[in-house]
Amino acid sequence: MFIAANLALVRERITAAARRAGRNPDDVALMAVTKTLDADRIREAHAAGLRLFGENRVQEFASKSEAVRALAGARWHLIGHLQSNKAARAAELFDAVDTVDSLRLARKLNDAPQQRGTPLPVLIEINLAGEADKSGVAPDSKELEDILYAAPQLEALTISGLMAIPPFTPNLEDARPYFRRLRGLRDQIAARKLPSASPTVLSMDVLSMGMSHDFEIAIEEGATCVRLGTALFGERHT
Ligand SMILES: *Cc1c(COP(=O)(O)O)cnc(C)c1O
Repeated sequence: MFIAANLALVRERITAAARRAGRNPDDVALMAVTKTLDADRIREAHAAGLRLFGENRVQEFASKSEAVRALAGARWHLIGHLQSNKAARAAELFDAVDTVDSLRLARKLNDAPQQRGTPLPVLIEINLAGEADKSGVAPDSKELEDILYAAPQLEALTISGLMAIPPFTPNLEDARPYFRRLRGLRDQIAARKLPSASPTVLSMDVLSMGMSHDFEIAIEEGATCVRLGTALFGERHT
């Protein structure tokens, strides 16, 4: 009941934010972030209608994936930092990896044994403010260029957009320029006609940005996916 009520409210807020920006609310995917939640809560979220899920840790998801595998239509994205030595396990467990932050990691994911038969969708994580405690590649870095140029060789991956967690700003409006910058970077990459720019290799359709406290601003600035934990499930207790 609790999740269903929160979900109804969140959907209204997504719709209102999209309308304010002249956008179609259907163009904003809602990802339920289920880190720290047990399988019962995840089943409840699924029963409420949620289908797109985000988890932060390979290990944590491995321990609950058996229990939630049967949920019809559920798709699982890794949204936490991924160490190269866990890339193969992540490629096996998840439907998508939203936190590619080096060419080395992209190569590891690409070389992982494939069972899916279609390329693994990935996002490039961008560290917008150069924060030392966050992962992600810098917007103007050689690493980002290297990943974009390597895309045609990464045949088991589809690079489908960008993801970021902007710095926490007590004043919500201060987050807006970061969202705008990520969108600008996306648009700039999409416009460049890179040699890799074929839709099965590199498309820049996805902009994953916005969390419980700032998702409405992210939507106004172009987010196509918002990642919500607290707004759906309440405060995390761990
Ligand atoms: C935890 C987490 C979220 C959700 O955070 P809330 O503030 O609870 O909505 C979104 N994205 C990432 C990468 C996270 O780690």
